[in-house]
Amino acid sequence: MLNRGAYTKTNSGVLTGSLITHLECPNCGRHYSADILRTVCEDAHCLSSLFARYDLSNGLPKDILTSRPATMWRYKEVLPVIHQENIITVGEGFTPILPLTNLKHWAGDDEVLWKDESGNPTGSFKARGIGAAVSKAKELGIDTIVTPTAGNAGGALAAYAARAGIKAIVYIPKLTPKVFKDECHLYGAQLVEVDGNISDCGRLANEQAIANGWFQVSTLKEPYRLEGKKTMGYEIAEQLNWQLPDVILYPTGGGTGLIGLWKAFDEMEQLGWIGSHRPRMVAVQSESCNGIVQAFNAGEASSQFVDGGFTIANGLRVPKPYADKLILKVLRKSNGTALSIPDAMMSEALKEIARYEGMLIAPEGAALWQAFKHLKAHRWIKPHERILLLNTGSGYKYLENINI
Ligand SMILES: *Cc1c(COP(=O)(O)O)cnc(C)c1O
Ligand SMILES: [Zn+2]
Repeated sequence: MLNRGAYTKTNSGVLTGSLITHLECPNCGRHYSADILRTVCEDAHCLSSLFARYDLSNGLPKDILTSRPATMWRYKEVLPVIHQENIITVGEGFTPILPLTNLKHWAGDDEVLWKDESGNPTGSFKARGIGAAVSKAKELGIDTIVTPTAGNAGGALAAYAARAGIKAIVYIPKLTPKVFKDECHLYGAQLVEVDGNISDCGRLANEQAIANGWFQVSTLKEPYRLEGKKTMGYEIAEQLNWQLPDVILYPTGGGTGLIGLWKAFDEMEQLGWIGSHRPRMVAVQSESCNGIVQAFNAGEASSQFVDGGFTIANGLRVPKPYADKLILKVLRKSNGTALSIPDAMMSEALKEIARYEGMLIAPEGAALWQAFKHLKAHRWIKPHERILLLNTGSGYKYLENINI
């Protein structure tokens, strides 16, 4: 495992107040220091993703938030960066929660809300995770970061690395729409186009990272992207006056958002910010890449490799999520479910939400609208529930593949 760069820099001394204590393996329970870079659990039989842990035992008063900036760093006590000057921010987070308007009749007695991540820097919620990971990498003195990407993670890494003065290398499938490649170039990243899918990119990125000593920020193979994405959970609670919704629908690729939301809920309960009520968590996948849905329905603890080829929702083309076991655990623990949506229905939903709600959302987010209608029609969603749909990105980057 990578072991370089432990506090070699001098810092100006302004502290964030981060309560981070260590990293922990959620599978085997091993503890690791958070002062050096880590990837996954070092036990060769485990290899689980690692979680950052904080000292939450004294709680925190909610009113510390009142005068904080409207970015994800308002939750800095539960984020991993220790020195203020290492925070790399371009305004990620604190995205709006918007009720349905002209499509409200679909909701019946339910309240349906969108949390709209499309306004994040680089147009997706990847800004949160990558923003946290790049900031922590800067704190640990890293000079080169590499990631495989289906599109949005690469753009986010390129942007945050540019701002941090760190070199970014991005492995991207050749078939990814041009705009995702263009933004990487504009932000000054080195782009490697791969004849294959994101798993192929992941394999290559991993080989090169090991060979060259680069830091790899592949989904859930390092602990800090999860920390950025969990801030969505803190925001949902804060913005809904500390009452979590009954159901959350999440477009699941590698699962960082889903696992992150769940982690945030546990932390907030420990902090005394919320009670024990938890939303039922729904993983929505693309029909062509639905390994989690299949595993969930079969009662399996882990998923198989499933890749049915191209989908317009490139963020969902993850044939076998590294953290599949953690995703399935959250779905079951929350009494949630999983379902998949074909591309044609995503396109249709994207247009419907644009035409009637004035939001141009990503196909990944659009899949949730179809999933909601399905769960409502089958009475899995009950009357008088509050449902939150997490639109993960902007539709503007996908228009090349939408038949207008
Ligand atoms: C990456 C991505 C997803 C999937 O996120 P995971 O954390 O990998 O589950 C969903 N939607 C969009 C727009 C994405 O870019
Ligand atoms: Zn372990």
